[in-house]
Amino acid sequence: VPAAEFAELSRGIEQIYADLQDERSGEVAQYIPTLRNADPDRFGIAICTADGQVYQVGDAELGFSVQSTSKPFSYAMALEQSGAEDVHRWVGQEQSGGTFNDPRLSLDAAGKPQNPMINAGAMATLALVEPESDVSERFAKVEQTWAKMMGSQPGFDHRTFLAERDTGHGNRGLANLMAAKDMLKVDPRDRDAPQKTAEFYFAVCSLEVDARRLAAAGATLANGGVAPYTGERVFSQETAGRVLSVMGHSGMYNDSGKFSGLVGLPAKSGVSGNVMMVVPEKRLAVVTFSPRLDEAGNSVRGVEVCRRLVNDFGLHPYKGL
Ligand code: GLN
Repeated sequence: VPAAEFAELSRGIEQIYADLQDERSGEVAQYIPTLRNADPDRFGIAICTADGQVYQVGDAELGFSVQSTSKPFSYAMALEQSGAEDVHRWVGQEQSGGTFNDPRLSLDAAGKPQNPMINAGAMATLALVEPESDVSERFAKVEQTWAKMMGSQPGFDHRTFLAERDTGHGNRGLANLMAAKDMLKVDPRDRDAPQKTAEFYFAVCSLEVDARRLAAAGATLANGGVAPYTGERVFSQETAGRVLSVMGHSGMYNDSGKFSGLVGLPAKSGVSGNVMMVVPEKRLAVVTFSPRLDEAGNSVRGVEVCRRLVNDFGLHPYKGL
């Protein structure tokens, strides 16, 4: 992005940030203490371009657990390791039509998770990350991938991890269901293997980032798999394209279709209140952090930032043709 255009985008973001200060609708996630006790008024936005230009405003360096926004990157890691054909034996690429944890709509008739953006699908992709290694080494692999994208090591939110583990009965249930149908790549002789996969997933959800650093991860996707600060290739171009496609139809929980109509760009949200959107045309990512969520679990301000940015700069790919 040319410097003048970047400056214009930055001013646009600053204006959107100011305009949304008084937006106080929605409620913070209630299911675990770390999220329940988050300061609901926090608000930060960061953009990062493929060539590493950054603009940030507000609480853009305040840490939060990445939660579901880890999913596109876990899918990317699985694609890099196993290739698309093998990955899609274990996880589909269709909208689920349900919430991210729906016990009935997450799996198809064969027991295969519908896509990698729902919990079941995220566990399926993590099961493909270095399946032969010890889980601590597998987690290290995930951390290293994040560090490459962001140019710095992600943190880890221990309290969130412990609470996810204590409350994760539904996720453990989904892991068991997939294993029962031979739809989770785990050691069939280890009866605890599905539970270990669920714990691996809880740990990855508990990685701690901030809007600025998450924007660099998003920019890695916008840049066809090359990290914006270091120029290091993290994923192939094909992997980055596949990840953005799935984000485009299933990244915003059960409002993904609505979001597509409103905004038309690939995005992923997490229950901590983050939204990461990629603007392919501009080769950049924008990340919002604001903990108040709407009914579907998407940050109210986060969705509004995406909508405003696309409207103000004419970025909806199918509008105004
Ligand atoms: N970690 C939570 C879960 O697995 C929520 C993930 C999310 O952001 N939806 O239920």
